[in-house]
Amino acid sequence: MNPDVQSLFELHAKDVERIALEKKLAECPREKARLNDKIKAEHVLMDEKTAGFRALELHRKQLEQELSVQESSLMKAKTQQAQVKKQDEYDLLSHQMQECTQKIDDLQNEILNDLLEIDRQKPIVADFQAQAKVQIGEIEKEIVALDAEQVRLQELHDRDVALSAELAQRVSKEWLDAYRTAQSRVKSPPYLVQFIDGRCQGCYLKVSTDVAQQIRSDTLVACDQCGRLLYP
Ligand SMILES: [Zn+2]
Repeated sequence: MNPDVQSLFELHAKDVERIALEKKLAECPREKARLNDKIKAEHVLMDEKTAGFRALELHRKQLEQELSVQESSLMKAKTQQAQVKKQDEYDLLSHQMQECTQKIDDLQNEILNDLLEIDRQKPIVADFQAQAKVQIGEIEKEIVALDAEQVRLQELHDRDVALSAELAQRVSKEWLDAYRTAQSRVKSPPYLVQFIDGRCQGCYLKVSTDVAQQIRSDTLVACDQCGRLLYP
């Protein structure tokens, strides 16, 4: 085989590999951002669950404070009643005591309901938190692995850049110029494709008769549709 053809094929193969690595490398920060978003979402969800549970505990504490106020009022009314001498004052205090007793009963029922609900929710919240922590731990492991993969890809990429430069030196100036022109015209690899049944295997379009007639293994012709270099 023409040594130029061989070198160009090798250069092309290395460039295709390098560009694929660049794509993968560009994906790394996006993937990392996606994983970090997943961690944030886990924290938000965990906070929401905890917030509901904390609100319930706060409600119970408020009810207990209110209960203590009512119990003090009842005690005070009882003490006052023992000291009053007039019937109407005695009756008024009796009425107040009845009201306090009713409120105390209602509060005690509410507190009991809250306690039952807290007992019900406690293991659920604890279980959820444990699961979220495991989940976050797994995502963090994925991030560590992704960072390592990024370093590995970068090393491979740097190695390919050096090899590409080395291989480019082995290709004649004329062929290298034609190759670089094709690279600048085509958005993504391949830049060097086979010509089969009158069609370019890069864009799959038929080339002109003029171009088709020029295709030989010892010369470089570009597809007049997409600009890729064609070989027979
Ligand atoms: Zn083409």
